Amino acid sequence: MKYLSTRGHAAPQTFSDILLGGLAPDGGLYLPDHYPRVSSEELESWRGLAYADLAYEILRKFATDIPEADLRALTRKTYTAEVYCNARDGDNAADITPLRRLGEEGGTTVSLLGLSNGPTLAFKDMAMQLLGNLFEYTLLKTGDELNILGATSGDTGSAAEYAMRGKRGIRVFMLSPHKKMSAFQTAQMFSLQDPNIFNIAVEGVFDDCQDIVKAVSNDLEFKARQKIGTVNSINWARVVAQVVYYFKGWLLATTGPGQKVSFSVPSGNFGNVCAGHIARMMGLPIDKLVVATNENDVLDEFFRTGNYRVRKSAETLHTSSPSMDISKASNFERFVFDLFDRNPERVAGLFRDVEEKGGFSVADTAAGARVASFGFVSGRSSHQDRLATIRDLAARYDIVIDTHTADGVKVAREHLTPGVPMIVLETALPAKFSETIVEALGKVPPRPAGFDGIEDLPQRFDVMPADAAAIKQFLAARTGR
Ligand SMILES: *Cc1c(COP(=O)(O)O)cnc(C)c1O
Repeated sequence: MKYLSTRGHAAPQTFSDILLGGLAPDGGLYLPDHYPRVSSEELESWRGLAYADLAYEILRKFATDIPEADLRALTRKTYTAEVYCNARDGDNAADITPLRRLGEEGGTTVSLLGLSNGPTLAFKDMAMQLLGNLFEYTLLKTGDELNILGATSGDTGSAAEYAMRGKRGIRVFMLSPHKKMSAFQTAQMFSLQDPNIFNIAVEGVFDDCQDIVKAVSNDLEFKARQKIGTVNSINWARVVAQVVYYFKGWLLATTGPGQKVSFSVPSGNFGNVCAGHIARMMGLPIDKLVVATNENDVLDEFFRTGNYRVRKSAETLHTSSPSMDISKASNFERFVFDLFDRNPERVAGLFRDVEEKGGFSVADTAAGARVASFGFVSGRSSHQDRLATIRDLAARYDIVIDTHTADGVKVAREHLTPGVPMIVLETALPAKFSETIVEALGKVPPRPAGFDGIEDLPQRFDVMPADAAAIKQFLAARTGR
């Protein structure tokens, strides 16, 4: 299996080649040269598999340059009940992503797929834990080292740190906006004492952190000398690791071949729902892929009107589902590539328009007419919708859900089809977003065991000005390069 850039001007690469990188050199995103098809017979043969072995069956179709025995060992090391130990009481934790039936609505069953039982209580762990083990495996082979530089507003940074802590040959330098994360998120990251983890609290906002990462990455000499890599949302291995739980959700919700299900996906950068699109292209019987956004509704606008209009940073709202506060959807180009029959010239042109004119439109075009054939529908959820949905699920089903998942449930309910099970992806546990849960329910959400008093643990971090040169100096002093 070779990987191509959505913009067509990069040499084909192997899975391992693109593992540590981000964008292709031509500015595009990597995708496999074809989507492997999973037949109905093969899918049925996977019913009894443990999550780790299901992950192996799917990943081996994409990571063809990793020896199969190694890949199986990697998935078995990653997807264990010890790592994904934060399932709710009554859920089958051994499923890794347990399916919890809520109830009958609109002539069908609505369920939650629990993706947030890993160490940082958000779905980012599903891919990041695999990435940590893949990185370590690759570096051990080459004897090389890797310094991960990232920016986070909360969930990505902690998932990366918990995946890379204690790993040989890897350091993590994570920039976060000083005093802007929730107390829980801050405690989760800053309480890590591992010597290979460096938390840098930048005096500025998230955009300043991201600008510093860009500035450092654009200094190619520095980047090469310091062996800098990234783990942002466009990383292909992250996307492909997320494909696995769509298969798992389907297997848990169905009893026989060909049965259709729909998924509702709380969306920001389009990484999670892009994995659903890939699962559907592989032949998984998915009826609808429901793209649920918050007030930052770039994607909802596209799927309703055909207009893709990115927002400016200043227009990006701070909401109570903060992990979906985006101004452009960085993985969206992968879907656009498929929408335009994998024509890289068209894609390059459209994203030139995004740079130059702030967007493009497929309204009233042949491509626009084909969007629905990929199963996508969408909707938008506001702070008031979030509160109402959290209250409704607590009253009706005696379950507390987080704010992002609430957006997913709210929009899912607008797209129910009788007889087609609706699976809402649970992207975080409510303990992470306590403030809004208190606003909705008047009480703090339950915390999984082991997280009590996390805010009182000693914290290890450095406060630094929003200055790329100072960050470079800090990094070089720690790597000795
Ligand atoms: C990252 C994140 C999202 C958005 O996922 P995308 O892949 O960016 O669309 C939704 N919910 C939570 C809790 C997240 O951390």
